[in-house]
Amino acid sequence: MFRRVKYKTESDFEKLRKSAQVVAVTLAEVAKCIKPGVPLTYLDQIGEECIRDHHAVPSFKGYEGFPSALCLSVNDVVVHGIPKAGDYLQDGDIISVDCGALLDGFHGDFAYTFAVGEVSEEVRLLMERTKESLYKAIDVAVAGKTVGDIGHTVETYVGQFNYGVVRELCGHGIGKDMHERPDIPNYGKSGYGDRLQEGMCICIEPMITMGSRKIYMENDGWTIRTQDHKPAAHYEHQLAITSKGTEVISSYKLLGEVIGTNEKY
Ligand code: MG
Ligand code: MG
Repeated sequence: MFRRVKYKTESDFEKLRKSAQVVAVTLAEVAKCIKPGVPLTYLDQIGEECIRDHHAVPSFKGYEGFPSALCLSVNDVVVHGIPKAGDYLQDGDIISVDCGALLDGFHGDFAYTFAVGEVSEEVRLLMERTKESLYKAIDVAVAGKTVGDIGHTVETYVGQFNYGVVRELCGHGIGKDMHERPDIPNYGKSGYGDRLQEGMCICIEPMITMGSRKIYMENDGWTIRTQDHKPAAHYEHQLAITSKGTEVISSYKLLGEVIGTNEKY
């Protein structure tokens, strides 16, 4: 189906900032509970309660039948992991917590990959460099640049470490629908693809693998895993392209206070 870019007004952006704030608070609440031995279903419950406490609705729950409020993706699960009874966090795991919240008609959607206990140095670097690729992408995400500039930036940065860039899934426009145009792939050619313009709200979300970029979907129709079962990291920020420039409306600052990191955005 042909979909147009839906441009936002300043009043739309104001609502999008509030939805993103609910996600920021929720990720911080979930962050408080991330430690070895914690059931994934408990994290999902904490997340859903926090979203609803803020009078918002979990964007993911029921989306094309998705069963949980959060996407909880551990180790070789790249994205769209579903918390199941009997799944517990273990020391040395990494977990991408992706959260969406619908408030006043607009969606917030962003994600952070957390370390559980002590992770190996190579896994720590995968996380750090995936987040850095997102920051580099944010730097080029200004009106007049293209989605190809964003993808090329991510791909070039992580390529030097021989990581894989997942191609089957990508970032996206966001607003009244969680997934709007344009698609924002994490690979591409500079200067190609849709051009960023004032009034766009976009999510950039690199999904980077330690080994091969090849993935598969489990029989549940959701869970995306690396074929070689090496770990993957995933970070997502939400940006408003306004007349005053690009504003990162998502924030890791609150979760950073919980886990003791100083986050750039
Ligand atoms: Mg997203
Ligand atoms: Mg997301």
